[in-house]
Amino acid sequence: MSILPQHNHCLTRSPAHNPWHRKRIICSATTTPTKPKSSPNQLTFEPQFVTPPNLVTSISTPPVLNDPSLQSTWSHRTWVATGCTTVLVSLAKAIAGAGHSHIWLEPMLAGYIGYILADLGSGVYHWGIDNYGDGSTPIFGNQIEAFQGHHKWPWTITRRQFANNLHALARTVAFFVLPVDLVCNDPTVNAFVGVCSGCIMFSQQFHAWAHGTKSKLPPIVVALQDVGLLVSRSQHGAHHRQPYNNNYCIVSGVWNEFLDKNKVFEALEMALYFKLGVRPRSWSEPTTDWTEETESASQVAVQ
Ligand SMILES: [Zn+2]
Ligand SMILES: [Zn+2]
Repeated sequence: MSILPQHNHCLTRSPAHNPWHRKRIICSATTTPTKPKSSPNQLTFEPQFVTPPNLVTSISTPPVLNDPSLQSTWSHRTWVATGCTTVLVSLAKAIAGAGHSHIWLEPMLAGYIGYILADLGSGVYHWGIDNYGDGSTPIFGNQIEAFQGHHKWPWTITRRQFANNLHALARTVAFFVLPVDLVCNDPTVNAFVGVCSGCIMFSQQFHAWAHGTKSKLPPIVVALQDVGLLVSRSQHGAHHRQPYNNNYCIVSGVWNEFLDKNKVFEALEMALYFKLGVRPRSWSEPTTDWTEETESASQVAVQ
């Protein structure tokens, strides 16, 4: 899942300023010969909070109303239009192909699977960039910084203009879906690709709606959230509260309970730690850069 740079101009990071380096959990992996009956190679995991010295809090401010970083540009609009076109072509080819072959069940099933997997994909991607890398990471650096900014000022996503919010995903969708549109004439594949890529592209809009106030959202959006077809405000709200390690999915949120209950991401984090030695940010004690900074009175007043 992708989120556009929220406050690149605000977040200045160096290794010393990196908020998730301020406190770390040191995890020790040792063998326990005192318990040979269970397993001679059983691993014990003993987290300890450690505060690295000489780390300074970064100075950052939320974007103001009408901040240029929240506005759509013609480049943003062009990419969103291109992404929407590729998705619509895919869906149109699926419908035309199904109509021509009189086979509707398989494309409809494929579209449904695409919708379900888009939610899972949004969760995996969101978990990855919430937890690993930083602003200097190739390709994903802007996304990682954007998510960090979003966690500090989650309400700004509701001020972000539509194309500004979606253009990065639209660009990715256009890049992958256009070749499929050009070479594939299988309505089942077209249905899967169209629905899945469409849900992924609009996931940022679903995400923005999950941050909206019920009274200000279109009634149809509230209804879709309430029946679970779009990620609900309460479910995504839990992602922005401690311990900041759950409810990563932002399309429908249908995978969140399963992933969190079965500690799927925690298992992946352990596997990555023991394999590569990298710690996820969710193991660190939350800092002020990670936790939400409430909206100031003046910002509320200008809404
Ligand atoms: Zn997040
Ligand atoms: Zn959010």
